Amino acid sequence: MTRSKDRSEDRPAVFDSNARYLKDACVRLGYDEQTFRLLSGTNREIRVELPLQRDNGSIETFYGYRLQHQSALGPYKGGLRYHPTVEAEELRWLACLMSLKTALVKLPLGGAKGGIDCDPKLLSRRELQSLTRRYVKKLHRNIGPNIDIPAPDVGTDEQVMAWIYDEYSTIYGYSPAVVTGKPIVVGGFEARRGATGQGVGIVMQEYARHRADTLEGKTAVVQGFGNVGKYAASDLSARGMKIIAVNDSQGGVYQAEGLKVDELIAHKEKTGAVKGFAGSKAMDGKQLFQQACDYLIPAALGGAIDAEMARKLKCRVVVEGANNPVTPDADEHLNSRDIDVLPDILANAGGVIASYFEWVQNIQQAPWPIEKVEQEMSDRLRKACEHVFAVSTGKGFSYRAAAYDIATQRLKQATWTTLF
Ligand code: NAD
Repeated sequence: MTRSKDRSEDRPAVFDSNARYLKDACVRLGYDEQTFRLLSGTNREIRVELPLQRDNGSIETFYGYRLQHQSALGPYKGGLRYHPTVEAEELRWLACLMSLKTALVKLPLGGAKGGIDCDPKLLSRRELQSLTRRYVKKLHRNIGPNIDIPAPDVGTDEQVMAWIYDEYSTIYGYSPAVVTGKPIVVGGFEARRGATGQGVGIVMQEYARHRADTLEGKTAVVQGFGNVGKYAASDLSARGMKIIAVNDSQGGVYQAEGLKVDELIAHKEKTGAVKGFAGSKAMDGKQLFQQACDYLIPAALGGAIDAEMARKLKCRVVVEGANNPVTPDADEHLNSRDIDVLPDILANAGGVIASYFEWVQNIQQAPWPIEKVEQEMSDRLRKACEHVFAVSTGKGFSYRAAAYDIATQRLKQATWTTLF
């Protein structure tokens, strides 16, 4: 069976978010149209066919992608997504977003994004492994420790990274630095697992400090309870916040006095979902977004908050745990309502910072103590926050505009220095 390719039509138009934000940044910075085209274009786009023999003997063909945006600052870096909606257009802009993110937090890395248009929940472990190994067989010349370093994203995890590392190493010899987010036993990092969520906590802490406020006792609502959402909820709960509502693709839960996050994580590990958590009330996705709270953290997929939803939000601040969860129209609306948005390229940058240290550790062949990683990660995020908040205050820009201007300037400088 060959599967239909166009799965984007029933999804919100989130693809052009980065294009719009990057274009606005270029206009503010006085860059011409050619500069915008060069900064927004991908260096290389790869699509490979991945036929898979299913456990029942039938053949199904999937498609694998890797889109490499810019490498002026260093090797391409970015997640690998397994999801039925994966297709080139969204990955193109997610790759661009990665370049801006690494530029903002001053990492010597470029930006990329890849994926396979499969639903990993519907594949057996053998099928998933076979598909992943075939992806590497087709793409191995275009990835590598000094070329392009994938990492987990929606639908992929440490296990998938371990298969990639193994398949790549059978061709090139021991190469742990080819992927990050690996299991600890094969050169992964204890700190990588929860880094994106912890980074969300650090950025929120810095934001509160900047506003002469504190997170203690404040309420948060989290959409998505995967790698980003659950570690963000856990980190924020440890900082004294009340996590009053959380959901995943199967439903949501609410508890006015605050959910016990560690128990909720254990419940999800046991049952596969957050629904049915003892002592909580059920809550659907729309209600969750409309729940009054201090901080709303969309940490699932892009396009979750469109203009219509933005009108209904009852939070003070939106923190983009996911990539592109707020559409540009929604962003404008939130600005007009004085609801601050902490943009994805800052709010979820903790993951790529930890990935960078995992890569450095693998190249050096010397383990780093966890305290050193955590310190370096929070120092980098804090510096990026200070810079963004200073530009925002100085110029009267939104945090997103400030972050985009800083990142775009750095990307342009590196691109021009290397190309011309
Ligand atoms: P994940 O697959 O681990 O988790 C996604 C979660 O969202 C799951 O709990 C899923 O059930 C839930 N979900 C899916 N659709 C939903 C819906 N309609 N309503 C509510 N919940 C829904 O993925 P992840 O790694 O946590 O990534 C989430 C987002 O964060 C993505 O946009 C990703 O690109 C971004 N991101 C991830 C990382 C990382 O380190 N994993 C780093 C930076 C950004």
